[in-house]
Amino acid sequence: PHLKASNSLSHSLQAKMSRPVQARRLEGIDKNIWVEFVKLAATYSKVNLGQGFPDFPAPEFLTEAFSRALGGGNHMLHQYTRAFGHPPLVKVLAQFFEKLLGRDLDPMTNVMVTVGAYQALFCCFQALVDEGDEVIIIEPFFDCYEPMVKMAGGTPVFVPLRPNPPKDGKLMSSADWQLDPAELASKFSERTKAIVLNSPNNPLGKVFSREELGLIAELCVKHDVLCISDEVYEWLVYDGKQHVRIASLQGMWDRTVIIGSAGKTFSATGWKVGWVVGPDRLLKHLRTVHQNSVYHCATIAQEAVAQGFQRELMLYGKPESYFVQLPKELQQKRDWLVQSLDGVGMKPIIPEGTYFLVADISQFSESPAV
Ligand code: PMP
Repeated sequence: PHLKASNSLSHSLQAKMSRPVQARRLEGIDKNIWVEFVKLAATYSKVNLGQGFPDFPAPEFLTEAFSRALGGGNHMLHQYTRAFGHPPLVKVLAQFFEKLLGRDLDPMTNVMVTVGAYQALFCCFQALVDEGDEVIIIEPFFDCYEPMVKMAGGTPVFVPLRPNPPKDGKLMSSADWQLDPAELASKFSERTKAIVLNSPNNPLGKVFSREELGLIAELCVKHDVLCISDEVYEWLVYDGKQHVRIASLQGMWDRTVIIGSAGKTFSATGWKVGWVVGPDRLLKHLRTVHQNSVYHCATIAQEAVAQGFQRELMLYGKPESYFVQLPKELQQKRDWLVQSLDGVGMKPIIPEGTYFLVADISQFSESPAV
């Protein structure tokens, strides 16, 4: 019996699982460009210009709010808070978006806080996309949309922004990249469940005009399609351009979820506080995904972001507002980078918004300027 027991023990130690372990929904989505580039940059000690985050400090009013929340007397801020968003944060977000959208919002049902905009996107795709649904994605796009659609069982359908280079030899702007209206219309069918809109766009920096958004809105209404509107760069818009919210266009509120990020808004990407604003009929399904995955987001970060928004609500539109100052500062940096790249023979596409800048390096690689 002793021998038999040890035999079976060694057998069980050696036995490898032979059945497939990976869920089918993960097939083909295991690669991630950021995982690869961050590793390459670390291995070769290179500057990583690929990922969108600031190299300057977050504003003091925000970091001070975090310190106060951490060290102040309210020990409850170290505990779980409301699952769908810390009450002070959902309340101030509702007040803020009431102003931006010109409609009444209920903080408890029209706003949900997430672990960054990334989890907001995940909740949208899981809650709203079914097996066999098609989701239109405008190219070029933030890479995670495609695997997130596939993971939900959906099929991504791509439509490109096409470049129309200026004839006068000027540098191209992200505004010169446009949708072909007929091509866009041809992508909508009875299988289309949603379109992902990202304005201002990562990586081109394109800020969609009211006319362009009107075209998308018209097609959404005509084909009864949802709009997942990723607006994380809403405050990073340059040259006096205006960020138009598609949810404010006719017929769109009821079918749009707006996604935002405190990381981008307050230059604190490591805090990972994001949100979704939209009608309860859509958000109630996002809450189901949230309560069955993340459930709570970090309380102290939410408290500090709430205080940041309270300050911004008071200073709304004033020169001291961070949302007024940040784009001014970044516009100067953009101009400097455009000049530098142009100076060495690359062809930068001038972004109208965001942290990003795409440059055409085809000439540069052929005959590098010195
Ligand atoms: N959407 C876009 C377009 C982004 O560029 C990013 C971050 N790079 C996110 C969403 C995710 O934002 P967060 O860090 O708040 O999760």
